[in-house]
Amino acid sequence: MRNVKNAVCVKCAAEFEAARATYTCTKCGGRLEVTYDYDYIKTRVSREKFAADKNFSMWRYMDFLPIEEGAKVCPLRTGWSPLYKTDALGKALGLKNLYVKDDGINPTSSLKDRPSAVAAVRAFHEGKDTVSCSSTGNAASSLAGAAASMGLKSVIFVPERAPQGKLTQLLIFGATVVSVKGDYGATFRLSAQAIEKYGWYNRNASINPYLSEGKKTVSLEIAEQLGFAAPDFVAVSVGDGCTIAGVWKGFKDLFAVGLIDKLPRLISVQAEGCCPVNRAIEKNAPLEEMEENTLADSIAVGLPRNGDKALAAIRDSGGIAVNVSDEEILAAMRLLGASSGIFGEPAGVAGTAGLAKAAAQGLIPSDALVVSIVTGNGLKDVVSGQKAAGIHGDAPGSVSPNLIRIEPDMEKLTREFVKRGVVS
Ligand SMILES: *Cc1c(COP(=O)(O)O)cnc(C)c1O
Ligand SMILES: [Zn+2]
Repeated sequence: MRNVKNAVCVKCAAEFEAARATYTCTKCGGRLEVTYDYDYIKTRVSREKFAADKNFSMWRYMDFLPIEEGAKVCPLRTGWSPLYKTDALGKALGLKNLYVKDDGINPTSSLKDRPSAVAAVRAFHEGKDTVSCSSTGNAASSLAGAAASMGLKSVIFVPERAPQGKLTQLLIFGATVVSVKGDYGATFRLSAQAIEKYGWYNRNASINPYLSEGKKTVSLEIAEQLGFAAPDFVAVSVGDGCTIAGVWKGFKDLFAVGLIDKLPRLISVQAEGCCPVNRAIEKNAPLEEMEENTLADSIAVGLPRNGDKALAAIRDSGGIAVNVSDEEILAAMRLLGASSGIFGEPAGVAGTAGLAKAAAQGLIPSDALVVSIVTGNGLKDVVSGQKAAGIHGDAPGSVSPNLIRIEPDMEKLTREFVKRGVVS
């Protein structure tokens, strides 16, 4: 890995060789950050080279990843998700240059496929036969899928509240699933003990420094898809904080090698019922644990395990912190779907909900170049989708204004259509 310098402890600055299977600092327990030889990378990358590259997946950015050149990679097509110019949504939010990066189209339908692919590749090359993690869902299903595609076994720890759709994915991908009677914290601790005891490859995002390297490819793509330009703002939802830290690192990498000439401001979006990172930003205080009160289960993290990296990313970027209610999340789900044809899960659309709120508060100039990252697909959590759509199974009390329940009678139908303005 000539492109990689080493892994540096963010607390005590101790340096470790990145090729070895280190997770956290052996001196102080601090988180590690992978550092790169940008002078070397500069000799390897250029706009022209990317323009000619026909590998439309995250592996087109191998020069920015901690993976041995020529290594076998995860065969699932991960990354290179579409960046849509969403004019109708932009109009609704009062933004003239709004783009949506739809990461729900990844192999297992979330942005987590990017870090999980890196984890599976590194596990494979370290000769591990089993990968493991604890997750509220998407990290797990993406890891199970990536592992299956590379012939690895997976053992996944989930809190018992994980939605059925996500559990289903795990079992279909052949994972051994440990459903823990407790919250995310308890789930995480149990997984850490088991991973330590059995020597599995550890895909816990807070521990494993290579995962945010996978996540950062979303930013490399955004910039390339914009013609190697940085947006003015990037909105993304925050749970553990690994994603927003990865998003920031991607832009910093491109800036360091001169492929973009400025950096975006980050919009950190959390749920009102669980916003420890944003509260720390607003109070300019250290992180404090919060309850996990939101339907956006993928960002319901009371004690963020990458909080420090997330706080640094938000602060360094001159970022904005916005909290949204569950109602605002569901409204954003409907707005995104109806205006753009994109269906996101609650945490997936929380970034858009926060952007809408920030725009309404006048925090975003109307001509700014803005990207909202949709981090997960709506079909992952059908129950929340039904809430947003205003239906409750087949119950007659369903409230969606777009749902017409009617006998097969054309006259009645015509009256309903006229009443509702479907036809004039
Ligand atoms: C994991 C996840 C997030 C947040 O990422 P963190 O690294 O936990 O901050 C947001 N949206 C979805 C859909 C996720 O799965
Ligand atoms: Zn250290």
